Amino acid sequence: MQSKQNAAPWLELDGAQGEGGGQVLRSALTLSMITGTPFRIEHIRAKRSKPGLLRQHLTAVQAAAAICGAQVSGAEAGSQRLSFAPGPIRGGNYRFAIGTAGSCTLVLQTVLPALWFADVPSTLSVSGGTHNRAAPPADFLIRAWQPLLARMGVEQTLQLQRHGFYPAGGGEVSASVAPCASLQPIELLSRGALGGIRAEALVAGVPGSVARRELERVRAQIAEVDGQIRELPSREGPGNAVLIEVAHAGVTEVFTAFGERGLPAERVADQVATEARQYLQSDAAVGEHLADQLLLPLALAGGGAFTCTTASSHLHTNTAVIEKFLPVEIEVAQQGAVVRVSLTRA
Ligand code: ATP
Repeated sequence: MQSKQNAAPWLELDGAQGEGGGQVLRSALTLSMITGTPFRIEHIRAKRSKPGLLRQHLTAVQAAAAICGAQVSGAEAGSQRLSFAPGPIRGGNYRFAIGTAGSCTLVLQTVLPALWFADVPSTLSVSGGTHNRAAPPADFLIRAWQPLLARMGVEQTLQLQRHGFYPAGGGEVSASVAPCASLQPIELLSRGALGGIRAEALVAGVPGSVARRELERVRAQIAEVDGQIRELPSREGPGNAVLIEVAHAGVTEVFTAFGERGLPAERVADQVATEARQYLQSDAAVGEHLADQLLLPLALAGGGAFTCTTASSHLHTNTAVIEKFLPVEIEVAQQGAVVRVSLTRA
């Protein structure tokens, strides 16, 4: 797939559609770079309490523009409209700094797919937050998202260089990517036999007793869990997160909850254990978050299917954006207790 330097007509997007959050913009940037389709978007993040471009979104725009030499207007903090006319994707060595605890992983997810189709191999480093509420933690990208991409033919490695938590930030995730000619569709209808369940409590500049209480509480709810404390250097904090990795033969899922001042460790553990148990009790191949993050790679592969626990508004919104850029039809259907998502060429 190659960029066509603005041969395509402009797409007009409404950032208030569906979920009305940052994903409309991020998916548009990714797909614009890959298809060469220029777009204009209005009402960016209209349904968020602070609408418009925050540092994370602005960095995603700047990174995308740098990688494909795009002509851009409206790329300013707080802007609710943007126009983006991409040029050809250029592989190379890139570094981007968000400058706040804004999510590195969401910036990476915006631009990495373009580098899969670059002319030469690339390296990419993004600094900011690596473990943020309402974004995939770096561990999720590395252990859940990346292995599925590898099965589709993506040659990419991701490394968590330094943790960064809200509000201090200062983390870094790096990637190296080798170009691939095309992606292969995958079918993830069942997850296969259970391999193991691992919980990790991360503490940075937070007492180890918090992590111990969290793991104890997780163990009380998921008997077969194997628990581990990761005490990080306090300069990477303050921060606390509990991750539960559920490995099946066909897919690994990662569930996360974040500690915050005033929130008892037990409540943090309860949040993530509940999410993991709901997944374990279902027959779905993937959970809510992995579902919306698989859509775009599968759409680039031109097909595939998966089952998931629930169809979030995020999934529906992403579906609508993807169908505007690519000739795919995405069907989301309840099938017994799970949701089946199927992608076919339109
Ligand atoms: P914003 O408008 O603030 O930029 P957004 O509206 O796009 O963000 P969300 O809808 O909350 O933000 O989610 C962004 C992405 O992060 C989605 O792909 C979602 O699945 C993913 N995500 C959120 N929480 C988790 C989590 N705990 N684990 C994995 N992925 C997550």
